[in-house]
Amino acid sequence: MRRGVSALFGTVALAAAVFACPPGVAAQDHPDGDAPYAPFKIGEGLYYDGSADYAAYLIVTRAGLIQLDGGGGATGHQIVGNIRALGFDPANIKVLLNSHEHFDHAAGLAEIKRAAPGAKFYASAADGAIVAAGGRGDPFLKGETFYYEPVKPDVTLKDGQTISLGGWTLTAHVTGGHTRGCTTWTFPVTVAGKVRQALAHCSSSVLPGYRLGKTETYPGQTADYEKSFATWKSLPCEVFLGSHGSFFGMQAKRKALDAGKADAFVDREGCKAFYAKSEAAFRAELHKQNP
Ligand SMILES: [Zn+2]
Repeated sequence: MRRGVSALFGTVALAAAVFACPPGVAAQDHPDGDAPYAPFKIGEGLYYDGSADYAAYLIVTRAGLIQLDGGGGATGHQIVGNIRALGFDPANIKVLLNSHEHFDHAAGLAEIKRAAPGAKFYASAADGAIVAAGGRGDPFLKGETFYYEPVKPDVTLKDGQTISLGGWTLTAHVTGGHTRGCTTWTFPVTVAGKVRQALAHCSSSVLPGYRLGKTETYPGQTADYEKSFATWKSLPCEVFLGSHGSFFGMQAKRKALDAGKADAFVDREGCKAFYAKSEAAFRAELHKQNP
C-alpha cells in the first residue's frame, strides 16, 4: 500500500501505514508518509506545506503566519524549508496549531517552534496535554516509536473557540474519537475569486485495535465518535482538507491544479462522500465488536 518510506523509520513506517490507510477509508492516491513534497498554493493566502501524506498548511495573513500541523519527525524540517521555498520567513509564524497529538501530526511541531520562537501554540486540553508530554499518555499508541519531542501549548482551546489574525478567523471544533481532543478547523478562504468555506478534517479513522462500545480504548470514545460525526456532517465543507493527504485525494487534486483547474480543492461532494464512508466504517467496526 505504501511506497517511498525510508527504511530508517522501521516500526514507525509500519505504524504510519496503519494511519495512512485507515480501514474503510480507501486512499484516493497512495500516501508516501513523510516523503518530501513540493509546497503549493490552494487559495489566496493558503498553502500546502506538508509532506507527501502528512498534511500541513500555511496561512499568510497581513499580521503574520499561521501554521497548522507539524507532520512526523522529518516533516517539521521539511515544513520550515517549504515555508522558505514559498518565499516566507518561518520566524513570522505567530500561531501554531495542531490537528491531533499522534506523532505523524505533532512530532514536527518542536522543529517549527524552534524556527519560530515567538509562535503561540494552541491546542485542545486533551491533545495538548499529550503533545506537552511528547506523545506519552495516548491511550493506545504506547512506546518509544510513537514518542517525540514535546511542545507545551501556550493556549488551551475550547470547542468552538476562534483564533483571529490579520483578517483571518479560524474556528476550532473539538471532534474526539480518533483522539480525545482531535481538532477539526474551519475557516473562509478565497479560491479562484470566490469565498469558500474550508474544512481541515482532524481524523475519523478507527485504528485497528481500537475498542468501541462496552470496552473502550478510552472512556467515552464511542460517544465522542458519534458526536463528532454529527458535527462533521453539520459543518460547511467546500474546500475539503485534512490531516492526511489521502483523506481528500491531495495528490490527484494537486495534479488537477497544475493542469489548470484553479478550484481543484473545492470538493463539497468529495467531503460528503468521505464522511459517509468513514461513518459506515465506524458503524461496521462498532457492530463487529458489539454484535
Ligand atoms: Zn492519528
